[in-house]
Amino acid sequence: MMDCIFCKIIKGEIPSSKIYEDEDVLAFHDINKAAPTHFLVIPKKHIQNANEINSENSKIIAHIFEVISKITKDLGISESGYRIVNNCGKDGGQTVNHLHFHVLGQRELKWPPG
Ligand code: 5GP
Ligand code: ZN
Repeated sequence: MMDCIFCKIIKGEIPSSKIYEDEDVLAFHDINKAAPTHFLVIPKKHIQNANEINSENSKIIAHIFEVISKITKDLGISESGYRIVNNCGKDGGQTVNHLHFHVLGQRELKWPPG
């Protein structure tokens, strides 16, 4: 995936502010924060979006949610709460075509989103 920004971040070709990394997953601060805490969690394997989640790769999704649970505790926002967002496709507002989960916190978020 030569042109994928997030694959380049995984390879270290584009710098990022990393929060957590293991063999399968990377978490880093969003470059354009929509809340005081705003980070992204991505699989290291290139998966385009939620449409591509299947029985072959869904273990990584469960792992991503475990990682989010750990990071939010480490950052001290687990009690105050946070929002996990996945934008899928054009109507979902997806701008980077590498599956990612936004985690937003440290402010009271409105519902429904715009
Ligand atoms: P989407 O709109 O696809 O759900 O979210 C993409 C997110 O990636 C946006 O919130 C955007 O700010 C973030 N983003 C795009 N390029 C970069 C980058 O080079 N570095 C970081 N840290 N975040 C990025
Ligand atoms: Zn990618």
